[in-house]
Amino acid sequence: MPQKPIVYDAPTPQPRATTVEAIQAEILERLIYSVGKDPIVARPHDWLRATILAVRDRVMDRWMESSRETWRTSNKRVYYLSLEFLIGRLMRDAMSNVGLMEPVQQALRNLDVDLGDLINLEPDAALGNGGLGRLAACFLESMSSLKIPAYGYGIRYVHGLFRQEMSEGWQVELPEDWLAHGNPWEFERRESAYEVGFGGHVEPISDPDGEVRQEWRPNEHLLAVAYDTPIVGWRGSRVNTLRLWSAQPIDPILLDKFNSGDHIGALEESAKAEAITRVLYPADSTPAGQELRLRQEFFFSSASLQDIIRRHLQQYGDLSSLPDKVAIQLNDTHPAISVAELMRILVDENGIKWADAWTLTKGTFGYTNHTLLPEALESWPVSLLERLLPRHMQIVYQINADILKEAREKAGFNDQQIANVSLIDEHGGRRVRMGQLAFVGSHSINGVSALHTDLMKQTVFADLHKLYPERINNKTNGITPRRWLMQCNPALTKLISERIGTDFLDDIEKLHALAPHAEDPGFQKQFAAVKHANKERLVRVIKDRLNISVSPDALFDVQIKRIHEYKRQLLNIIHAVALYDEIRAHPERTWVPRVKIFAGKAAPSYWNAKLIIKLINDVARVVNHDPAVRGLLKVAFLPNYNVSLAETIVPAADLSEQISTAGMEASGTGNMKFMANGAITIGTMDGANVEMHKEVGDDNIVIFGMTTEEVAEKRSRSEVPRSSIDKSPRLREALEAIASGVFSPDDPNRYRDLIGGLYDHDWFMVARDFDAYWDAQVEVEKLWTNRKRWNAMAIRNTANVGFFSSDRTIRQYAADIWGVQTA
Ligand SMILES: *Cc1c(COP(=O)(O)O)cnc(C)c1O
Repeated sequence: MPQKPIVYDAPTPQPRATTVEAIQAEILERLIYSVGKDPIVARPHDWLRATILAVRDRVMDRWMESSRETWRTSNKRVYYLSLEFLIGRLMRDAMSNVGLMEPVQQALRNLDVDLGDLINLEPDAALGNGGLGRLAACFLESMSSLKIPAYGYGIRYVHGLFRQEMSEGWQVELPEDWLAHGNPWEFERRESAYEVGFGGHVEPISDPDGEVRQEWRPNEHLLAVAYDTPIVGWRGSRVNTLRLWSAQPIDPILLDKFNSGDHIGALEESAKAEAITRVLYPADSTPAGQELRLRQEFFFSSASLQDIIRRHLQQYGDLSSLPDKVAIQLNDTHPAISVAELMRILVDENGIKWADAWTLTKGTFGYTNHTLLPEALESWPVSLLERLLPRHMQIVYQINADILKEAREKAGFNDQQIANVSLIDEHGGRRVRMGQLAFVGSHSINGVSALHTDLMKQTVFADLHKLYPERINNKTNGITPRRWLMQCNPALTKLISERIGTDFLDDIEKLHALAPHAEDPGFQKQFAAVKHANKERLVRVIKDRLNISVSPDALFDVQIKRIHEYKRQLLNIIHAVALYDEIRAHPERTWVPRVKIFAGKAAPSYWNAKLIIKLINDVARVVNHDPAVRGLLKVAFLPNYNVSLAETIVPAADLSEQISTAGMEASGTGNMKFMANGAITIGTMDGANVEMHKEVGDDNIVIFGMTTEEVAEKRSRSEVPRSSIDKSPRLREALEAIASGVFSPDDPNRYRDLIGGLYDHDWFMVARDFDAYWDAQVEVEKLWTNRKRWNAMAIRNTANVGFFSSDRTIRQYAADIWGVQTA
């Protein structure tokens, strides 16, 4: 049957009514007709599902209208490719962004159901490890809010990041099961399924006109099936799509095996295909070396590109306009194989000349670098690529030959420089460097904070930067103020609205209007009261989950993020031990009561990170029960850090710990969430802390420690760290206590090697920054004691957070990289 042409300006679907009565009626209707439950026996999960469906119905019309508009106007589309999306819960986000919080709450109340209970029941979609994945989620929300036609592309992992539990203070990893009750947000799109191949060989084909073209003949095939989730912008301005791919066996192949009596073979085929999207790799910032990981990367890159090309051809019928109508952003190197896959599609499948295809490719891709840690720069063995993706390996070689020729002939590079820019790493087993591939295949390469971008130019990409000096640019990360202020801290949002009006809801930079109220005693009192109420809520969570009693009047000193040596949770817990010693040694002094709150997951194979979790829990057990401490110091490690837990902890924090070794945190986004919610930062001159310091001013942040240059200098001189330990009796005593088993009487040697590392090399400068950190904490206590001063600082932090909105970041991507309009 011939398809009728689509008329994109046909009448749009009627929006559903948003009155309490209409919503109440629809929740009931959804419960009965979609969930299939009688209201008198419905369980909380049934009500949750019915409510999500009713909310979802209220974004459908906007979703369709958004998509039609892009077809009608021929606006450029942005595609954000990311192996991770750390989305968290969606219901409150969607309700809040379309202004349905109050009517839904009332409708449920009439049905005798508590909205808060339902919100807490929704699974936290954790399809990411940490900052990189959360950034992708904040960006999607901002792109919708700014009316950019955008798609997020990723993987629909059956199991997201592991659930963390504690067993005698050790981390144990349990499988996460976010799909256990189904996912009412998503739509399966069977019609948008693509074949993805692996392995096989490359066949040269002679065309009738004498041209030879390469054709890849994979010997393994599977299906990528799309699942779509609507992403609603602020005030429902636009609804974009998050399209996640699920791997499935191809039915005819399966059927063939089954019919031929090979039932086991059919099952194996099926399991092998589905394995690709079964689990998220729980390694944060180190590439998992497994073949399965490369398969995941190619699988989602290929499916996404096929989808993008299909849509483009459907609308424009010709690929020469690709860079004018399509911008593809690569979130780190995980989708970098897309560069070779797009070249293959253009050259092999569409007969475009190599040089023209290369121009189109570079015009289409942008690449965001997220880390300079050498162990985190992805590379794959040439032998693996040759086996799994033989045609892509050929394409990489050809790209490399072109680049090296240019480097030699045009730029006059010497052999060392040639080796540096080469896509192939020739040291110890040949490997393809994905960072180099992403760089040469993109017209824009961006870092994620001013410092990180500078370091990128000086280190990993120094020679590529010389070759292509126009490409590297900076886009400092941001967070969406909807989730990280308005939704997680409604009381503060209300207070600010009462003081400066509601303009800031639509333009977060307007928060600057708060600054003149920073010294107002009445406003300070209200601001502090909101913080206190948030702290009381967290006090209950700590009591419920850990059975630790803490006072909401204590200083809440918070470090929540992935556990990593460079983030230096070790420095923080050593400070707790030193403080513990001092409090006991000097009962006559007045001490600021302090609660040290930690949360974070360690990669399952990262021994030192797991040991640091155990140390925090060991110290907590001793300190929390020692009567000599008189409750002045408490330590609490909250298990299973995720987006929802962050939303509970951040609004209750007084002090935000951002203490990474200078030069190692690319940006950080946790730091920005705390700033928005009026916490004071204690931090190093690292990542976006540098820009926070600039925005808020030296008086409203506590900066300490070695600079990036000093760290580099110390490392290059490899001088022994022992002298900094010998100089500091306070540090020495704390280290000796930990190393000698004061906190681990059941295994006195448990921390010997961990502490030994500080004497030996101290790569992360824990010992060498300790005294500066101690002094900074003394400064924090002085500020806290002068509560007027503290409150003024806290207000100024909120007032100056506007720059760190992901709306600002996305506006810059739109203007400088993608060339698209924003609202
Ligand atoms: C914001 C966030 C992060 C990133 O935190 P950093 O402090 O920047 O490392 C990681 N995980 C979750 C759940 C987050 O919400």
